Parts: sequence; C-alpha cells; structure tokens
Amino acid sequence: MFELNSFLQQQREQKLYRSRITCEGMQGPLQVCDGKSFLSFCSNDYLGIAADPRIAKSLCNATEQYGVGSGAAHLINGHTSAHHALEEELADFTGRERALLFSTGYMANLGIVSALVGRNDAVIADKLVHASLIDAAKLSGAKLQRYHHAGVSSLMDRLAKASDTKKLIVTDGVFSMDGDIAPLPEIIANVDKSNSAILVDDAHGIGVLGERGRGCVEYFDCNDDVEILMGTLGKAFGTFGAFVAGSETLIETLIQSARSYIFTTAMPAAIAEATRTSLKIVQSENERREKLQALITQFRTGAKQLGFDLAESITPIQPIIVGSAEQALQMSNALSDQGILVSAIRPPTVPAGTARLRITFSAAHDETQIEKLLRALESLA
Ligand code: PMP
Repeated sequence: MFELNSFLQQQREQKLYRSRITCEGMQGPLQVCDGKSFLSFCSNDYLGIAADPRIAKSLCNATEQYGVGSGAAHLINGHTSAHHALEEELADFTGRERALLFSTGYMANLGIVSALVGRNDAVIADKLVHASLIDAAKLSGAKLQRYHHAGVSSLMDRLAKASDTKKLIVTDGVFSMDGDIAPLPEIIANVDKSNSAILVDDAHGIGVLGERGRGCVEYFDCNDDVEILMGTLGKAFGTFGAFVAGSETLIETLIQSARSYIFTTAMPAAIAEATRTSLKIVQSENERREKLQALITQFRTGAKQLGFDLAESITPIQPIIVGSAEQALQMSNALSDQGILVSAIRPPTVPAGTARLRITFSAAHDETQIEKLLRALESLA
C-alpha cells in the first residue's frame, strides 16, 4: 500500500479532519449520540417525518409484499409496481409529464448531467452548487464554468462567452450550506432557451417551500420554465433516494443513457412504497411547513437580538458563518458540551474562510427547544 498518513496528518493539523458520531434510535430533535443525549439541530429531516410511524408501517408492509432487496437494476427486473406508482405520483406532484427514480441524489446528478452534455458542451454552475453537480460536470467531459453565487450578470457573462453547442445551467434551488434560494426568475428571464437548459437541484427546497411543498419552483411560480428538476427523498421526504422530473423526452433520454441509472441496483421497492406515504404527508400536512416557518422566525429574531450576523435565509438552513475551521469546530464542541448538536461545516464543503455552524430546523422541534439553542448560543457569544 502506498503512503496515506501524511494526508491524514495534514487534515488534523488544518483542523479539517472529519470523524463520525454514532447515533442511536430514530431521527428527531432528541438523539443519543456516542452515548450522550443531545438536542439536535443538524438533520435534513425538515418536516420531521423520517421517523413517522405511518411511513414506517408502509415500509414494513411493503417488505412483506416485496421482500428487502430489489435484486437488479431498473432495466433488468428491479423496477416494481411500487417504483412505477411513485414515479407517476411524483410526476403529478411536480406537475410534469414524467419522473424517474434514482437511488441517491448524488447519483441522480451524475446521471442527468453526463447524459445530457458532453465534450463539446458547457456546464455553467453557480459557485456554491452541491459537490455532486461539480463531479457530474467533470464526469460529463463538458467545459465547466462557474458563475458568482446567485450572480445573474456573472451567469450572463459566462453564457455570452460560451460558444459551446449545448449549455446546461445548473443551480441548487435552496443552497445546502447557506440556505438561500437561487434567483430563478432572473435566471429564467435572461437565458436564451434555444441552446440551453436549466437544471435545478432542489434537494433542500422540495417538501419545504411552496404551499404544497413543491419547492422553489412553486415558491417562484416558475415550474414551466425549469426543464429539469431534481429532488431528493432523504431530506424533507424522510425516506431515501431521489428523482428527476421533466418531459417525456427528457426521462426517456435518461433511461437510455444515464449511467448511474442503468448500471446500479434499483432502490428497494419497500422504500418506494414508504415514500408514497411520505409524499401524501408532504402534500397534505401544510401545517408542518407553517410550524417550521414559525420556528425559523423565532430563531432568527432571537439570534439577531443576540447580535449574530445571520445569512439571508428564510429556509430551515440557518448558518452562522464564523470564518476559520478551528473556530467553527470550537463552537460546535462548546455547544456539544451543553448537549446541543450542531455541525461545524469546514472546507472543502464550503469555501476557505467561511467555515460555519450549519443549524437546521425541523417541524418536529418546539419553541422551548429553539429557546434552548438560543441560550446556548448566547453563552458562546
Ligand atoms: N444535492 C444537494 C444540494 C444536496 O445537499 C445533497 C445531499 N447533501 C445531494 C444533492 C445528494 O443527495 P443524496 O444525499 O440523496 O445523495
């Protein structure tokens, strides 16, 4: 084996070493991790349904019907009527002709981008898009260009200079580490559709934004102008996997050529069946989104009073940017000492000098818990 220790040592010295905590029980505000009880503010279970008994029951029932493993890829014999029904319901939910399930959001992005563009094309990405979109662009072989975060004039500049055949504009809907929403109406208004398309990765917006939880396209009322919508199922939906929604032609193209769709085992049918139940909850229980919004407002009001400089975010992702990786780690450890679990997010997940506490909220939190978090933050300030 070749030498690996110097890299690990360097990670330690730069305070970038990552380690896992081991959690017990279900997702929820109260969690036992590494044997200690925590009040947690780091999950993406935004609607508080990852442990919902109705979804768990669907999973159990479907396991009796379908077993556990799906046995093969969708294009062999892993595609069941549970997957099919979920795809049809997701198409309906997103107001699109078709939807296609992927095993994870990471794989969805790899598959979509590399199926749609290649060597003579360009991927033009917001500076802060998720790592999977960057990896996807690299895998596709297209020229990767980045525009300033949420900077429509910077995007226009890149578009004007790109002489490539096809131009795929990619952006997160809600940015995963900042919580802000992409300026979709401005992007749409400025893009020439004839040789370009917009891919929105709404992993953090779907289920959360919009009255019916349809995400940033519902929030901005621009569903028809976003040709390619990607959503994940492991966050607000509380289950696992991802989907892309769009036209019949788009989905058929992906089925023919998205390698991370073709060459992998289908997600278990029972997960698809459980997600059908979670989709019903996402659509019908608007009170979860209302409660989440009230908790976010409570936090923002309190944190501002404490003098924290908050990001421009109306979503459940509320980062406190502290700067150095060391400082972010210290603050996260100090909160952990008080029984509060908040992750320190460090480079390369975020740009150097912008290490942060990434605080996330769930509809399963209550006002007292937000107050506890604020008192703990006060003690750090
Ligand atoms: N896109 C974004 C914006 C994400 O935040 C994530 C997950 N953190 C993904 C894609 C990947 O999704 P998954 O976890 O389902 O692979």
